[in-house]
Amino acid sequence: MRGALGGPRVLLRRLREVMAEPVSAQERLDKIVVLIAANMVAEVCSVYVLRVDGTLELYATEGLNKAAVHQTVLRSDEGLVGLVASEANPVNLSDAQNHPAFSYRAETGEEIYHSFLGVPVLRAGNTLGVLVVQNRARRTYTEEEEEALQTTAMVLAEMIASGELSAIAKPGAEPAARRPLHLVGTALNDGIALGYVVLHEPRVVITNFIADDVPKELKRLGAAVEMMRSDLDVLLERGEVVDGGDHRDVLEAYRMFAYDRGWVHRLEEAVATGLTAEAAVERVQSDTRARMLRATDPYLRERLHDLDELANRLMHQLLGKDYAPARDRLPENAVLVARSMGPAALLEYDRKRLRGLVLEEGGPNSHVAIVARALGIAAVGEIANATGVADPGDAIIVEGSSGDVHLRPSPDMEAAYAERVRLRARRQLQYLALRDKPCITRDGEKIELMINAGLAVDLPHIEETGAAGVGLFRTELQFMVAATFPRSAEQFSLYRAVLDAAGQKPVTFRTLDIGGDKVLPYMRNIDEENPALGWRAIRLGLDRPGLLRSQIRALLRAAGGRDLKIMFPMIATVEEFDEAKSLVERELTHLRRHSHKLPERVEVGTMLEVPSLLYQLDELLDRVDFLSVGSNDLVQFFYAADRGNSRVADRFDAISVPVLRALKTIADKARANAKPVTLCGELASKPIGALALVAIGYRALSLSPSAVGPIKAMLLDVDVRKAAALIEPLIESRTGGVPIRERLKAFAAEQGLQI
Ligand code: PEP
Ligand code: MG
Repeated sequence: MRGALGGPRVLLRRLREVMAEPVSAQERLDKIVVLIAANMVAEVCSVYVLRVDGTLELYATEGLNKAAVHQTVLRSDEGLVGLVASEANPVNLSDAQNHPAFSYRAETGEEIYHSFLGVPVLRAGNTLGVLVVQNRARRTYTEEEEEALQTTAMVLAEMIASGELSAIAKPGAEPAARRPLHLVGTALNDGIALGYVVLHEPRVVITNFIADDVPKELKRLGAAVEMMRSDLDVLLERGEVVDGGDHRDVLEAYRMFAYDRGWVHRLEEAVATGLTAEAAVERVQSDTRARMLRATDPYLRERLHDLDELANRLMHQLLGKDYAPARDRLPENAVLVARSMGPAALLEYDRKRLRGLVLEEGGPNSHVAIVARALGIAAVGEIANATGVADPGDAIIVEGSSGDVHLRPSPDMEAAYAERVRLRARRQLQYLALRDKPCITRDGEKIELMINAGLAVDLPHIEETGAAGVGLFRTELQFMVAATFPRSAEQFSLYRAVLDAAGQKPVTFRTLDIGGDKVLPYMRNIDEENPALGWRAIRLGLDRPGLLRSQIRALLRAAGGRDLKIMFPMIATVEEFDEAKSLVERELTHLRRHSHKLPERVEVGTMLEVPSLLYQLDELLDRVDFLSVGSNDLVQFFYAADRGNSRVADRFDAISVPVLRALKTIADKARANAKPVTLCGELASKPIGALALVAIGYRALSLSPSAVGPIKAMLLDVDVRKAAALIEPLIESRTGGVPIRERLKAFAAEQGLQI
């Protein structure tokens, strides 16, 4: 580098020495600015640190007035320094004073300096401060100099993030790096978690970011890039994707970037400034993250995200085993923070120590959210840059019901939540006391409360909740969380474990409900315009009967000597039901012929999720042994409003005249035909939904396990006749616009029901 004394590598080596010296934070900073100024032949070098209040404070300077240190405080959008911070991008000017953003602070004495080079101090994409060099002469800083200053800023980033500067900060104006943060995402699972951050893929703490031997580091980088490329090639060639959630087109994009000269060149340049290979990856990744956080164009964001993901893979190659997540070293009250996570990965953590989950990606229908629900941990998704702002061991609060996350909360905040956790625990104890009490309403109606389940981890809930059985066992969950297709033997052993755990209590197994939003990572997806209305569930099962038949066989064998209930998802016509039922009969005949032990009794029913069945109820009820209403899908198809699309999902209320009329017709007809009917959609898991359902005649509900306590507490106090007397005339009314939900709320308040 022209003009510089010794170049960036010498500077880095000197900085390493200064970092190791046993001096105060201020002395260290003072030495650092002197070193940088000398090395870059600049008259000024200054460090500004971003404070909790969002302003930038001058922490050290060589060249400007020393009296301005800790006195000059800039707004985050003030001057060129503010510009560097807010854009998270370098600003390089030979005539700074004529730049529109230039702002002059008399106390610094900077009016005589014309050229300006400022770089953000970044860590994991977050701006922690700004590092500036200035010269009197109108000079253009070279690209190499800019690069070198950015590398130097990494050293400062580690120093600021370490918390060392807090000792010299004014109270209330500490560096922002460790400030409390309130983040808001999407609610994935209810519950409050108070705990400590564990990064699912721990950010690498780079202990050695200064290279001793640059050619060697370049070689390491090159080898890692090669390995990463060939890994991607293999994944793509195999055509099956094992890494939960990754799809072919995503991998194609990764591969494209992995072979992109520009990206690799940036990494090599970073190494050439004197960084180790991993520090170079970290630098480039931090830049990418900073741009990602500011990009508004969704296409660009997606591409930056791909680059970020690639950098992750590269880091993995460079650090090998040390990079493995700390699954077995999980602290008490762990809250996992991850960019994204497959369902199987979550299941590998110790459930007893796990309190919460925070994801950068992952919507409410993601597979990992399903597992979080089964595990009963508070979970929030769609928190941008969660892994960038959280450090391992940081205190964190996750409020699963609202999607709020408080990182490094203030003591007041922590105390308030601790109180809420105590309250919830007290309520849980009250529910526990109800566990063995029969669910009989105030006016003597017996209501059967069962649970929805789908994974082995759900099984303890049968006992814990005191539920009357499993009303819906979603067999597809085993398929969704697996890395490869579960073999027949695996299906068999899960089904048997479920029946063992249930003992005398009934279990209703639903055959595979895949397709739509329930995608299997290892199965090639067909592109469909409307997957929810597409080739899914029983449609797929009947067209490719091999899979369905082997599942039915596994179920029949697992239930040898016991009772078995089977039902089918997404049946739309009675003919479909007949066809599906005939497969059960065929398998029974087959097993009988091979002298297998058969179930004592097999009942075959159907889910009612497609509105067309409402107009085939008589013929359907003649055929089925039981019905199970899936209100999630039924309401989605009823109103033609995607259940997973928040823009429309809340537009229509399930507790409304048309839906309740339909549900009441089903309950009435089932009773008239002496066929049992259960409702197993989310509607039953909300106290107000359960109240509406018992009022229109439902006597069996299947709930999320966590809903059993609150629903039972409400039902024990309800007078069903009174609720029916309120709701029936409302449903029959011809006036339109009847606010049923409001009327039910008022009724509950009047009757002292907790909803
Ligand atoms: C439903 O549709 O209501 C239902 C219970 O099935 P799932 O939520 O699994 O689609
Ligand atoms: Mg459904």
